[in-house]
Amino acid sequence: MPTMQHLKEMCPMGRIWPFHGGVHPPENKQQSNQSAIVPMPVPKQLVLPLNQHIGAPAKCLLEVGTKVLKGQLIASAQGFVSANLHAPSSGTISAIDERTLPHPSALVGPCIVIDTDGQDQWVDHAGIDPLSVDKAQLLQRIRSAGITGMGGAGFPSAVKLQAKNKINTLIINAAECEPYITADDRLMRQYSEQIIAGIQIIRQLLDQPTCIIGIEDNKAEAIAILSQALIGIDGIEVAVMPTKYPSGGEKQLIQILTGQQVPHGGIPADLGLVCHNIGTAKAIADAVLLGQPLISRVTTVTGKAAAKAGNYQVLIGTQVSDLMAFAEVDLAATSRLVMGGPMMGFTLTDHQVSVVKSTNCILASSELELAPVADHHACIRCGQCEVVCPAELLPQQLFWFAKAEEFDKAQSHNLADCIECGACAWVCPSQIPLVQYYRFAKGRVKTLHAETQLAEHARVRFETREQRLIDEKLAKEEKRKARAVAAAAAQAAKRAANPDAEDPIAAALARVNLQKQASASAKNATAEPPEDAYKALKTAAAITRTKLKKSSKALTDALASGHEQVESLQITVDQLALKANAAKAALSAYETKLGLDPEHEKQLQVAAAQAGAVVRKLEKSLATAQDAAAIEVDIVTAKAAHATANQALQAYQHQSTALQQQTQES
Ligand code: SF4
Ligand code: SF4
Repeated sequence: MPTMQHLKEMCPMGRIWPFHGGVHPPENKQQSNQSAIVPMPVPKQLVLPLNQHIGAPAKCLLEVGTKVLKGQLIASAQGFVSANLHAPSSGTISAIDERTLPHPSALVGPCIVIDTDGQDQWVDHAGIDPLSVDKAQLLQRIRSAGITGMGGAGFPSAVKLQAKNKINTLIINAAECEPYITADDRLMRQYSEQIIAGIQIIRQLLDQPTCIIGIEDNKAEAIAILSQALIGIDGIEVAVMPTKYPSGGEKQLIQILTGQQVPHGGIPADLGLVCHNIGTAKAIADAVLLGQPLISRVTTVTGKAAAKAGNYQVLIGTQVSDLMAFAEVDLAATSRLVMGGPMMGFTLTDHQVSVVKSTNCILASSELELAPVADHHACIRCGQCEVVCPAELLPQQLFWFAKAEEFDKAQSHNLADCIECGACAWVCPSQIPLVQYYRFAKGRVKTLHAETQLAEHARVRFETREQRLIDEKLAKEEKRKARAVAAAAAQAAKRAANPDAEDPIAAALARVNLQKQASASAKNATAEPPEDAYKALKTAAAITRTKLKKSSKALTDALASGHEQVESLQITVDQLALKANAAKAALSAYETKLGLDPEHEKQLQVAAAQAGAVVRKLEKSLATAQDAAAIEVDIVTAKAAHATANQALQAYQHQSTALQQQTQES
């Protein structure tokens, strides 16, 4: 193995910048990096999730029962950010259904299941000379091959290669900083030429930026081999970095190699930079030079429970259970089975999940390596998490906000900048699974954001529709006005031509007025008597009676005095007599109609008044009475009689009122 001195001579390094925080967990890379990559035999069944990448799931193109060849397209990318999916081996599609996904949530998702036939027969395919095609063809080849970032994120590589900004520096991430994982290390040792070829294709697409391959100094052999392979090649250099976790985080790697910080909310392209994983460079070379889509990858199987720890070339869709069996993992000795590394990986509860394009490691740890998930203790606010956070966040604050579901506050404390490296959880003395809280909070923020967008979309649609209706109404009104103006002009022209003709508009208006008047008359004719009709009739009868009395007295006086107005007074009296009789008849008819008996009411009124007078008289006599007790008995008796008379009167009046109301309502 080359010494550090030897490496420094081979790689005349530029400046290396430190990044904030970071930790030095035990590397444990020796377990798996001692032997060459072993191709795993084709398993009996492959299960391929349609969404193995960031972006829209691929769309299945074939039906159950279809025979497929190795490398055949079986699901196509949907939209710009998506990726194709190919059959990793020949066989028959036996199912298209929901299976458990290799994800911390252990949710199920749509998968294509292929029963392999053992032939491993390739579909027709061929490579191209990248220098003989244009950029669009080159990019299409990478896109068609379904290549996604092999470092863990799974972002479609073709999208990343279409940066709008000018890219000055291409950074190849070969840090592989997470403990236990050695897939990239072995890849560099065994496939350096293919990796460099892939890097050159990427540079060709990005107009030949300078390339820096960032490798931690714990991979001396890989550094030596790559450096050797780069002799005589301009524009690509190896940068050896001190081993510190998480130097392979995209932002941290950029900081280390260029001293630049990607701004909050920004992307490396904003700085003229782009990062690709070393495994992605190899996959791009395979796609372009050999015509092979991404159907397999190198996965580390490691941990003390794996008897054959090492690196395996595994077909995408291989079940973890098959891979474990091949690497002779002792399940009884496995404290935790982790997909990924001990820092960023997640515990698998179901072994029937697939190796996907981003699966770089299966860690079968013994209890000494990784203790089973245990209850954690309360945060003691020691602040150690803050010290090690490479994103310069406040992990304990984020933890509190996530726990309290105060997602707004978590966002304002830059939750989105958390790279889920797990450095905070690794140092936490209370063993709080901090990253799980951050993942939960991020998931909720994403869901809430989607819901807000849906609501906003619905609001915009509603307002647009309302505005459209208003516009249509206004347009109709404008048209109507224009028609009216045109019609008036036409009528005016007609009248000018024939002045004696009847004005049709005036005639129409006259007809409308006549109709209105007729309708009003009909209404009046059938109108109900006013509510106080009875009262009005009584008043009219009383007034005419009074007037008649006055006029009669005046006539009598005039006759007695021989006044000259006797004749005119006689006429007035005669007229008033007629009116008084008419008013009395109207009142009487109305009372008959209502079933009223004014005479009876008068009798009741008199009886009540008399009873009241008796009570008052007895009360007055009480003051001077000698036998007060006897008077008091009489008063009680008189009051009872008065009350009875009043009740009779009120009952009659109540009945009269009810009768009047009934008559008016009917
Ligand atoms: S390291 Fe753990 S206990 Fe300490 S402040 Fe952070 S979350 Fe709290
Ligand atoms: S997981 Fe997030 S909060 Fe914790 S150290 Fe890493 S970046 Fe910081």
